[in-house]
Amino acid sequence: MTNHFGGLTTRPTPGEPMSMNFSLDTTPTDWETALYVIACGCPDAAPLLFPTARLAAAWALQRNADPEHLRAVPHGCTDDLCRAYPLHPVPATDWFAATINVTNLHGAQLLEILGLGGQESPRISGTDLLGRVLVALALLPVDEGTPDLVDGNVITYGRRPGYLQMRLADLHALAQTALELGRDVVVF
Ligand SMILES: [Zn+2]
Repeated sequence: MTNHFGGLTTRPTPGEPMSMNFSLDTTPTDWETALYVIACGCPDAAPLLFPTARLAAAWALQRNADPEHLRAVPHGCTDDLCRAYPLHPVPATDWFAATINVTNLHGAQLLEILGLGGQESPRISGTDLLGRVLVALALLPVDEGTPDLVDGNVITYGRRPGYLQMRLADLHALAQTALELGRDVVVF
């Protein structure tokens, strides 16, 4: 398949995957231990993330034993009552929740924008990705979108206005999660 950045030409070859994922790198152990989160329920509060149940439980035990006025609450917590109640970890078993799935065409465009074009299955640290995303968000003109193209049986989906900025915002969040967890981001 040929992708022309900024152009509209793509024709999938049979058997080639139609989509691309930007995802946290995982190890086999992740699928057993999963990721654990502690949240207070305030809608704007950022859940605390822990790589294992043991670490999350240790944190909660300590926190819940602290005197009420000293108890930690998630960043963005706005309810004074959250301090009064114990917090408990819950498994967030779905690593794929952090995965961004895009079409091959849009994926290639995003990689090009991030300066990663032409690399086969790039792997990148959270820090590196965050830097590239911030540069792209600062420099990329607002995406005006492109129309869908129909060529016989092949439909090449265009982009709705603002699409690239929206995906860069998603990648920004993914990069921050990768940073917090000390994981690379992999593209496949
Ligand atoms: Zn709260």
